[in-house]
Amino acid sequence: MKIMYHYYTDLTVNQVNKLKELGINLKVGLDTLEIEKGSLYEKIKPYLEEWGLEKDKALRTYYTKNELDEASVLIYEGSWTNGYPQPDNDWPESQTTYDVSRLCNECGVGKVQKEPFRLKKTPVWKSQSVFDLEWVFDELFVKKGTYETLFKPFGIDCWPVMLYKKEIIIEDTVQLKLPISNTSPDLSKQPFKQCSTCGIKKYSPQIEGLFPKIEKPEFAICRSKEYQGFDHAADKWIFITQELRQKMIVEGIKIDYLPCAK
Ligand SMILES: [Zn+2]
Repeated sequence: MKIMYHYYTDLTVNQVNKLKELGINLKVGLDTLEIEKGSLYEKIKPYLEEWGLEKDKALRTYYTKNELDEASVLIYEGSWTNGYPQPDNDWPESQTTYDVSRLCNECGVGKVQKEPFRLKKTPVWKSQSVFDLEWVFDELFVKKGTYETLFKPFGIDCWPVMLYKKEIIIEDTVQLKLPISNTSPDLSKQPFKQCSTCGIKKYSPQIEGLFPKIEKPEFAICRSKEYQGFDHAADKWIFITQELRQKMIVEGIKIDYLPCAK
């Protein structure tokens, strides 16, 4: 695997020159730095800490095919993002889609889906048959035929999806009704914040290395009990078993995954 750190920088001439001595070329003023975890990173880390950049770094881990193939459970990381849920001005706490009566205004936890999602346009399905939506990180939408052959046999239920304004059901698209996992990952080392209003723990979505170990859930695809997200975002992780991943690969479904440790 390869772990990459990402920084938004706003450096002075002296800071730029310091990094140049160490072999890194950045612009004075706004720029970005992407660096792999390793010896060069260790050399510049003290400076990044001193300049206050280290605390706001973003990270991404890239996995080898073997690491992905050997995991028995994986996390959904993204596929095709097919636009924004509707109505546009109704997000992220959509009163159309969610019952927000128990929403915590501080951490964003507590919304419950009460209505189908609305889309601006009927999806134009090409080779991909799974998508997600902007702002919604823990719901998946699939081509109806794919749902019938791939997900329904695993006992996964679905929601209809509607066309915004016309208020009609989009016949070839469904949203997976993802059950909640009966098992939990070992998040003892994952950074979290506890909400001062509702007391719920929300974990950092940044995963360095493999995702923490989890016992295989009883569902082929499901959502975590735990929440993750920054600031006001509160989402769940989507777990997918290797068995389902392999079936999706056969169907040509391309998804980015994050493998869980064994
Ligand atoms: Zn809260």
